[in-house]
Amino acid sequence: MALVKCVDCGSSVSDLAPMCPKCGRPIAALRPGYGRSRTVAALLALFLGPTGLHKFYLGNWVQGIIYAISFSGAIGYWCPLQPACALLSVFLSILALAQAIGMFGMSDEAFLYTYFDAPVPPTPYDDTGLS
Ligand SMILES: [Zn+2]
Repeated sequence: MALVKCVDCGSSVSDLAPMCPKCGRPIAALRPGYGRSRTVAALLALFLGPTGLHKFYLGNWVQGIIYAISFSGAIGYWCPLQPACALLSVFLSILALAQAIGMFGMSDEAFLYTYFDAPVPPTPYDDTGLS
């Protein structure tokens, strides 16, 4: 659990609270990764992986630009290092495919934790003795 600042009234609110107790503003919109869908990110990585669109969607602009430049260099004739760009782009495509598979397989909580540093919600005590 962490405290976030309400953007309307400025009071400190638990990020697990549904709304600000002072002014009633919904807190969900302040959580990291709010409005980002795991499915959309996974589909972007799966079908448009080499372009890096999934990285931009996930807010990782530096990696997105690296993807975009290597893809652009691989398909364009402007790049004097086209074979190198193509090689890098193939490598990044495989990486994107692995990320897509990973995102399809993980829970929404794990997705937010992995890509947006969201706090992991408390898990119920596991008393099965299997883990
Ligand atoms: Zn407030």
